Amino acid sequence: MLIQHTPDVYEKLSLLGGMAGDDVLAPATNTGSGKASRTPYSRDKRQPIPGVYRAAMPNGKFINLLRVMFTDFCMMDCAYCPNSTYVPRKRYAFKVDELARLFMELHQRHSVAGLFLSSGIAGSGSKTTERLIQVVETIRNKYGFRGYVHMKVMPGAERQYVEAAYRLGTRLSINVETPTPEMMRRISPHKDLEKDILAPMGWIDELTRQGTGGAVGQVTQMVVGAADETDRDIFQRVDQLYTDWNLKRVYYSAFRPVRHIPLEEHPATPPMREHRLYQMDWLKRVYQFSNQEIGLAFDRSGFLSLEQDPKTAIAVENLDAFPVDVNAASREQLLRVPGVGPTSVQRILDNRRQHSIDTWHDLQAMGVVRTRAGPFLAFPGQRPPPGKQLRLELFGEDARQKQRELQPQPAAGTLSARPGVTGAPCGQASSCTGCAMYGAPGHPGPGR
Ligand code: SF4
Repeated sequence: MLIQHTPDVYEKLSLLGGMAGDDVLAPATNTGSGKASRTPYSRDKRQPIPGVYRAAMPNGKFINLLRVMFTDFCMMDCAYCPNSTYVPRKRYAFKVDELARLFMELHQRHSVAGLFLSSGIAGSGSKTTERLIQVVETIRNKYGFRGYVHMKVMPGAERQYVEAAYRLGTRLSINVETPTPEMMRRISPHKDLEKDILAPMGWIDELTRQGTGGAVGQVTQMVVGAADETDRDIFQRVDQLYTDWNLKRVYYSAFRPVRHIPLEEHPATPPMREHRLYQMDWLKRVYQFSNQEIGLAFDRSGFLSLEQDPKTAIAVENLDAFPVDVNAASREQLLRVPGVGPTSVQRILDNRRQHSIDTWHDLQAMGVVRTRAGPFLAFPGQRPPPGKQLRLELFGEDARQKQRELQPQPAAGTLSARPGVTGAPCGQASSCTGCAMYGAPGHPGPGR
């Protein structure tokens, strides 16, 4: 006699919560033993719960988020995806009520404070989105949950479902995945980039601009390396998304081959490529680099260097703009110096209102990374070398030694050459012993 085992809701969580861990849309770390969360669900609080991740919210706070797929069944044939029809394995699905009840149970136990709900496509984009809407409707209307819900809208969802998702979700996302319609046809033959993905994204943007109350924004994800696209291809699409639709974030996911998919033999994308794209994204979104500056980071074939971070690559291509005077440069000029972030820039601006900044120890105490910023900053009394000379200094063998000789050093045993520097500890755990604040009262020391 054949006895078929029907998984209970906790077994489904163990399977479908673990699957959602592969989605990079919400930056998160597992509360338990790591990303590949296959640990069986346990009512024992010391055991990790599959699908529960610590996630950064838009307001900067961290909450425990249940990241789960409604189903890992998918009728689509995306050549890069472990959930595609190509992969022969048993698939699972929640029922609407059981997923809503499970989430509320975890919420009432204070195990989670929010929900990230995703799914494969079962039936059609509209049908699957409708199921997700029913789950969220249940937890909102039946159980009164008012907290954070990130909902995926499925490719191909019709407008009425997009509008319903907008009313219920805190944040929405549709995965763009590939930069151009042609690339999408190649690796996801049944998805139409314009019609199935960009059109619903346009509707979400329209609803957000109307400000009728609903989701506070949308994000998306790009798969990196599956369509043999260049970094420039990806970034051109990303630029359009940020500019036209005011996206909150774009996430990047390096392609990893799995068994059975058509791209099984395709090489995995180096994680560094994904990292470089995140750095470029940061330059665009936070540092507000112009498109012209962004363009300098790509090599002739349209890729970012894996060895050099894009901010340094842009600075090196733009040497005539450096070095900048620490005490006179504008906020925008300082932001373009490698090794100087927005917090350090603010500290420089605050400090130099009270006194001139004369030493590297002052700057390091403000969080500036000397090894990266060295060639691009100038101090009082130091004649800035012209661009060509700077290039020689940057790439000459004795560049770093020269930098050290150029800069005045603080007297031995002092925290800073200039008393009254109000900089915070450097925050560079690995180089903390070199920080001017190291050993000072209140300085947390290395290994923070
Ligand atoms: S539609 Fe989404 S889940 Fe389905 S195969 Fe494509 S990428 Fe995977």
